[in-house]
Order: sequence, then structure tokens, then C-alpha cells
Amino acid sequence: MTGYRFGPHLISESQIFFKSNLTIGIVNLKPIAPSTLEDVHVLVIPKRNTPRLADLDNDETVDLMLSAQKIGNAVEQHYGCSSLTMTIQDGPQAGQTVPHVHMHIIPRKAGDWTNNDDVYQELDKKKQGVDNEDRTPRTEREMSAEASELRTYFNLD
Ligand code: AMP
Repeated sequence: MTGYRFGPHLISESQIFFKSNLTIGIVNLKPIAPSTLEDVHVLVIPKRNTPRLADLDNDETVDLMLSAQKIGNAVEQHYGCSSLTMTIQDGPQAGQTVPHVHMHIIPRKAGDWTNNDDVYQELDKKKQGVDNEDRTPRTEREMSAEASELRTYFNLD
């Protein structure tokens, strides 16, 4: 196990596919996915456990965005997509459920969701009172397999 946390959650080293000085990229425990793609929802988080974007210092903020740019390029290529949804739910009233800054990155392609913005409905199910517990958590093995594939884009040991 590693020392990294995501809010209250301890993140296993096998979930991590990207590391910079101040940021990590992790695969999602409960990814949202349209019917045409699977498991295409990763998270970019600062190494320091802090809830709000405004809590980050300048170096952390720049590093988070540069990391998101690299990770976005990799997942778009990996999943054969042509666009990206990149979003931060910054605070509980915006739908944030884990009190640790995180950017969702979801590679997109034509027709993945019937209505393009349904991706936000999916992300926000919990806030709407729809229990997103219906998304079964992935196993360690499933997350590890996806992280191994994505790691190849970043020369991560
Ligand atoms: P939000 O609702 O914007 O706070 O998003 C929280 C995200 O964290 C959701 O996509 C969850 O599926 C994801 N998540 C929660 N716990 C973990 C975990 N232990 N490892 C990876 N992702 C997680």
C-alpha cells in the first residue's frame, strides 16, 4: 500500500497510473460509463489531501492542470475517443462527495450518451437523491488491470 489518500480513502499503489511532483492519476472505484464504452472515467488528484480547489497553492494548481492535460491525452488515445469531459465538482453543493480536490476525466466519442450532457446527470446521481450505490465497486484486480494499461503512457515504474 502507498501513503496516498483520496479524502478518507486509502489509495492502493495498483490504482495509480500517473505521478508528478504534486499530483497523481488514479482509476475510479465506480466509474460512470455509457453503454458503448467501459470503465472510461479516471480521476486526477493533488497528492495533498485538501477539499477545495481554492485550497491549492499555485504550484499544486498548475501541476494539477498540466497533469490533467497529459492524462486526458493518454485516455483519449487509449480508448479511441475524440473529446474529453473534464470536470471538478468543487464543494458539496456542486455534487462533490469526496472532500479531496479531484478532476473527473471522461473520454468522449460521438453517440456515447444519447443526450450529450447526460454525462453530468450520471456524475451527479447521488446529489439528485438517486443512490449511486447501484454502481458496483470494481475489484482491486479490475482497477489494477486498467491502471497497468494506462501506466504504459507515462513510464511509471
Ligand atoms: P464526486 O462525486 O465528484 O466527489 O466524485 C467522487 C468520485 O470518486 C466518484 O467518481 C467515485 O466513484 C470515486 N471514488 C470514490 N471512492 C473511490 C476510491 N476509493 N478510489 C477511486 N475512486 C473513488
